[in-house]
Order: sequence, then structure tokens, then C-alpha cells
Amino acid sequence: MALRFYNSIKRAKEDFHPIETGKVGLYTCGPTVYDTAHIGNFRTFMFEDLLKRWLLHLGFAVNHVMNITDVDDKTIKKAQAQGTSLLKITSKYTDLFMDDLNWLKMTPATSYPKATNSIPKIIEMIEILLDKKFAYREDDGSVYFNIKSFPEYGKLTNINLESQKSGSRIVSDEYDKDSPQDFALWKGWKKEDGEVYWDAPWGNGRPGWHIECSAMSIEALGNHFDIHCGGVDNMFPHHENEIAQSQCATDKPFVNVWLHSEFLMVDGGKMSKSLGNFYCVSDLKKIGFSPECIRYQLLSGHYRTKISFSIDKKHEGDKVVRRISNFQSRLNKRNALEFADGLLPESYQKFKKQMNDDLNTPKALAVFFSWMKAVNIKLDQNSITEIELGKAWEFLTVFDSIFGLIQNSIAEIPAEVALLLNKRNKARLENKWNESDNIRDMLKDMGWIVSDTSSGQHIKKTN
Ligand code: AMP
Ligand code: ZN
Repeated sequence: MALRFYNSIKRAKEDFHPIETGKVGLYTCGPTVYDTAHIGNFRTFMFEDLLKRWLLHLGFAVNHVMNITDVDDKTIKKAQAQGTSLLKITSKYTDLFMDDLNWLKMTPATSYPKATNSIPKIIEMIEILLDKKFAYREDDGSVYFNIKSFPEYGKLTNINLESQKSGSRIVSDEYDKDSPQDFALWKGWKKEDGEVYWDAPWGNGRPGWHIECSAMSIEALGNHFDIHCGGVDNMFPHHENEIAQSQCATDKPFVNVWLHSEFLMVDGGKMSKSLGNFYCVSDLKKIGFSPECIRYQLLSGHYRTKISFSIDKKHEGDKVVRRISNFQSRLNKRNALEFADGLLPESYQKFKKQMNDDLNTPKALAVFFSWMKAVNIKLDQNSITEIELGKAWEFLTVFDSIFGLIQNSIAEIPAEVALLLNKRNKARLENKWNESDNIRDMLKDMGWIVSDTSSGQHIKKTN
């Protein structure tokens, strides 16, 4: 089955066709670094990581950009409350975020642009929007986007502009879907902003949250790119506003595919800072959660369905993780690696079909577990062939490169290796053979052997 995604803007599944053959530009809205991220946030980031891992597995060169929102209403408020600088707050929480990402075995993005480094691009875009009369100034030095000037406004979230009170404006970054309003591209300086402001031709101030993501994504991926992701709460107003600003500024289509993941819930409600019903990675570490157990809980539900997080499910997660690790040990004892030569068992095709169908992780996991059970029976009965052992090793390796569920796995691909594989793939697609060979040599020095097969790059640990 061809790779298909549920494109939020089309409200339907459709085949995926990248703009440039073999390459994917992927933008994922990153954290607002005003506090520690909770595992609800990580559900979204883990879905995005899974998407990237699957695209890499299929042989795409993925340019993954995850922004860091390091200036907005929340970050400024926190810095003020703590009597410290914006930079001190945002650096502290960016570092914590990166530590958590790493602990959860997420593969690093290609780049992590910060909003505060994109101010010139933001100003350039606002100037264009003012020139073209999509935006207007206010006396306090703020600039607003006029949503009535863009006939497609509301297409992503199907909102009704009739409910907009004529000319109403909102300065806050977050607001309700029932009250679409002109939103701030630039917020004129106020006393509460303290030292946080930049010069702009229309007055000192700071950017609105939405224009930050338009500027950072366009700077990194160009005016028109393949995939943009976020949690469902990002759809309105954030992504709706990104589309309006970007398309009006560039006269180009902005994004082809919009993917949104559902909420992680606790006790029937969305896990969120404001409700106080959240767990951070550090809370879960303290009570003995492994990264694999968290990964299993977050990935075993389909990304477009709500899932409930529960401490009680730790036992079940641990059991699954142990089962997979035991399976690996059993294959290890039979020297399965020696017989692996890039061939995969038939069940892999079923697994691939499910993953290609809008990343259907529950069904893909079911295929994997029933295959693992069958192989375990053959191992019990001592009736497994060398070819089957080799195929089993290959499938387990592929599986773990996508789900990352094996503890201390020797099959697991560390993040830096995944990154080099991605770079090598890109080099090969651009016919940069020397670069591709150099990366292969670097990987060899790191203890990894790459081979090129019809289903893409295959990697094995030496020794
Ligand atoms: P923020 O740091 O608030 O900008 O959020 C970072 C990401 O986490 C966004 O993509 C949100 O949509 C997502 N998010 C926030 N809460 C949850 C939740 N309970 N479940 C899943 N994703 C969430
Ligand atoms: Zn964003």
C-alpha cells in the first residue's frame, strides 16, 4: 500500500507525494520553553518522531525542523515572576527539554531554530503583509492581521467567519475557535515586557506567537514544504493563522499535508499545565518508569485517538518491553545476526501496510506481536531455520528503529547514527557519492556497517 496520511485540511486520507522526489520537509511546532514539558506534550513530539523514523525507514531524506518558542506571553510572564531575564528562563527549560527528548530516545531534529533568532525574517514578513494591506497598524505600535482580507481563512478548522464581530482584535496568542478575530503579528511594547523588545519600522515590540512559526518554517524549509505537525490544540488559532500569514506574504501554497495528534488524557481530561493534572518525565523516572515503557504507552494508541495515561499501566508496559527484550536475547543466543542479509519475513509487509496506512501503530504492533509469538514457538520447538533466524533479526531491527522499545538494545540505532543515515540518504539522492562514502566510513568507525538494498539503507552493528 502506498504511504497515506490523514490530511487535516482535506479531512481525508490521501496518498503522500513529496514536493521533491525522495525528500521531505517536515516542520513540527516545538515547545514553549517557560516550564518543564509534560508527557502530554511528549505524546505529540513522540508521534512526530515516529513519523520521521517511518519516513527515514522508507528511504526519504527528511529535513526535520522543530522550533523553540523562546519569546511569547508565557515566557515573558515567567521571567517577570521570577525576577530574571528571558534568556535565563528559556535556556534553562530548553536544556531540560533536550535532556527529556534524549532520555525518551527521540531522534534529534535536523535543526532547532529559536524564535528570537528569526526576528529579521519576522519583520520582513510583517512589512510585506502591511504593504499588501493584509495587515494594519494600531496606535500602540502593534500590527494586526486582517482575517477578512484572506478569503481562505478558516479552511483548516472549518470556522465560520460570520461569528466575527466586525474588526474585533485580539492581542493574546491563544483564544477560542468560536471567536475568530484579527490577531497580533507584532505586539507594541508594554511596561510588563520590560527589556524584551526589538526595533521594528513601526515601533518597538515583540512578535506574536503565530508569525514566529511562519517565519521559522519558511526560513528553514522554503515557502512551500511537505508536512507540518502539531497537537490538535495547535489547529486553531495557531495553524490557521500560520496559513493566512504565510500564503498572503509569499503568494505561494504553504504546506501540503497537515497532521495533528490527539490529546493525552488523564482522568477523562486533557493533560495540561493549567489543569495541574500532568506528569513530567522526572516524575515518572522517580517511580521507576523506563523510557521504553513510556514509549509503549504513548505509541500503542493511534495518533488520532485520545489515549489515557495511567500509572497503573506501568506493569503492562513493562511486561511488553520485557517480552521484546527476551525475544532479542533468544535470537542473540542463536546467533541470528550472522544469518541476517537484508531479507525480511512476510509479516514485515503486513506491518508496513499498517504503518503506511496513516501510521496505524495499534495494528502494526498487533502484526509484530503475533509474528513474534510464532517465531517464539519455533524457537521453543527448535524448528527454526537459519534463513528464518536472519529474517527475524532483520525485522526486529527494523521494528526497533521505528518504535525504540528494546532496552539496551544492540539492534537499536542511536540518535547520532540515525542522523548520519539521514544525511547519507540525502547525499545519495543528490548523487553526492563522495559524501555518501565518507558517511559510510564514519559509521564504520563508530561500529556500524551500512549496506544499500532495494528497501533502502540497512544498518548492522559490527562484532
Ligand atoms: P506547548 O509547549 O504548550 O506549545 O505545547 C507543545 C506541544 O504539545 C503542542 O504541539 C501541543 O499541541 C502539544 N500538547 C499539549 N498538551 C497536550 C496533551 N495533553 N496531549 C498531547 N499533546 C499535547
Ligand atoms: Zn508553531
